[in-house]
Amino acid sequence: MKVSAKSETQKTASPDFLEVMEAASGEKIRICYQCGKCSAGCPVGFAMDLLPNQVLRMIQLGLRDEALSCSTIWLCASCETCAARCPREIEIVKVMDALRRKARAEDYHVPVREVPIFISTFLNTVKRFGRLYEAGFVGAYNILSGHLTKDMDKAPKMLLKHKIALTPPRVKGMGKVRKLIKKAEEISKR
Ligand code: SF4
Ligand code: SF4
Repeated sequence: MKVSAKSETQKTASPDFLEVMEAASGEKIRICYQCGKCSAGCPVGFAMDLLPNQVLRMIQLGLRDEALSCSTIWLCASCETCAARCPREIEIVKVMDALRRKARAEDYHVPVREVPIFISTFLNTVKRFGRLYEAGFVGAYNILSGHLTKDMDKAPKMLLKHKIALTPPRVKGMGKVRKLIKKAEEISKR
């Protein structure tokens, strides 16, 4: 497993990293002129170790370890606020997605412990029920992450307003859903 950027003392540049990430994301990362509008509007910026514009700068400079090991790529909520604000029309979500795929493929450590738990619990729920079963997902996530009471106070109100259900959803054509998931899993291993 690769070490995080914070534990590295020497920063070494990979000259081809910019090209690799542009090809992987389909975005012209080189045209970012570091105005910072994306970061100013990012709702998750307060929790990130690098702001979105800084991640793009790392890529421009070929600092692959810094870009692939930061918490930012795992905390990005894919809300698209940055894309809406960017004067260069860069879709940062696609860049974040490409960085996550690369970080996984190269076995980089995920610096936020809860993220892999969240992703695997979410996907397992969809795999089992054909769509998200919110109550089951939150229960399983809270147990596995150790945050046992997280968001539990909201459950009664959401149940009363029929925002979530106690029982799992019934999905027609589960066979087709399973086939789709299997296909997606095969593609992700390529
Ligand atoms: S808003 Fe666009 S141009 Fe400005 S720093 Fe962010 S990505 Fe770069
Ligand atoms: S898509 Fe990600 S980086 Fe962009 S504003 Fe939303 S959370 Fe921040």
